[in-house]
Amino acid sequence: MSSGSVHDDLIRTRRVPAPAGLYMDHVNVILLGRGPCALFDAAYAETAEEVIGWLRQAAPGGLQTLILTHHHRDHLGGATALCEATGAQAYAHPIEIPLMKARQPSLEVKPIEDGERVRAGEAELEAVLTPGHSPGHLSFWWEEKRILFGGDNVLLPTTTSIAPPTGRLSDYLRTLRKLLALEPRIIHPGHGSPVRDPAGRIRALLAHRAQREAQVLAALAKGLSTPAGIAGDIYRGLGEARIRMGTNMVRSHLEKLVEEGRARDEAGTFRLLER
Ligand SMILES: [Zn+2]
Repeated sequence: MSSGSVHDDLIRTRRVPAPAGLYMDHVNVILLGRGPCALFDAAYAETAEEVIGWLRQAAPGGLQTLILTHHHRDHLGGATALCEATGAQAYAHPIEIPLMKARQPSLEVKPIEDGERVRAGEAELEAVLTPGHSPGHLSFWWEEKRILFGGDNVLLPTTTSIAPPTGRLSDYLRTLRKLLALEPRIIHPGHGSPVRDPAGRIRALLAHRAQREAQVLAALAKGLSTPAGIAGDIYRGLGEARIRMGTNMVRSHLEKLVEEGRARDEAGTFRLLER
């Protein structure tokens, strides 16, 4: 990360290694501010002590706010322990809160709505509802600096998993276009490195999804009809874990084609409709 400018020094990212057995090998937690700070995401339950220890040094002024971008375990896991240890208040979008409470019943989460202004450390951010990866996924826009805290929407070098039923591809594609229109200068993501060419990366992700859709259409055209069968064809030779992830991705493409009236779902098998 480049140094010397005020905003870089206000934003500190910690890459938290994942417990064994997860597909992603780490998650980022991002600290914003110098006085009472805000933290984006809480990493895993298993790494809560590590993050709390880091916060004691990195946020001597205390942690006021824990912003949870979405309910997945790599972002939510440490939340209850972290709020108990620091006294921070957790926030999330109202759609995500029941999903979070199902996993962490004693976590107190206050709602943030789309468009709401949120104080985070010294920054004033705007909450942006960015569904697709998760139905109430929030990103945060620091307009003054043109910095986006993007959660899991725009990653580098990996792509975002969209797993129905909570993941929805048509929403995700709308989200990508919405983020492109903001014209961010940099995106701080939930995994991987800061995205320093957001427009280029978002266009590449849109192109990648279009290419996958073409592959799914081609597979349907040659008579493949199940998500697993189509994924086995598209991700051939890439190993079982990749094919399992790919099956969710194919399912999300099929769901989009059904929504658009281009394919029909017949109890879990799919076929193309004439146009
Ligand atoms: Zn996620």
